[in-house]
Amino acid sequence: MSWRGPALILVLVAALYVVARPWLLETFGAATLVLVVVGASMIVSIAVAWWQARNRRYTCPACAHVFGASMLRNLTSQNWFGRLRTRCPSCGERSWCDTASDRADPAET
Ligand SMILES: [Zn+2]
Repeated sequence: MSWRGPALILVLVAALYVVARPWLLETFGAATLVLVVVGASMIVSIAVAWWQARNRRYTCPACAHVFGASMLRNLTSQNWFGRLRTRCPSCGERSWCDTASDRADPAET
């Protein structure tokens, strides 16, 4: 997956927020705004982790084992542009695991 789309969206949302912040603060108040931003971040994080747990598989760089990660592991582990730092369930090595290409696991078919 390319990182340019999400990065561009992040920059656009940040720019929109900086421009709209005075109006948002005046209209909703600081406490409500903080609650909404924190709540929205949590919902988006959980939704992304859920999607990754359902659709994404990772390859262990040490033993080439292809495995899926649970939603909790996707949510709590370091995740950087499609790479997940996690422990391989096959060899137990803790490392940065690349995203496996979709449906590439021969054991699945
Ligand atoms: Zn491994």
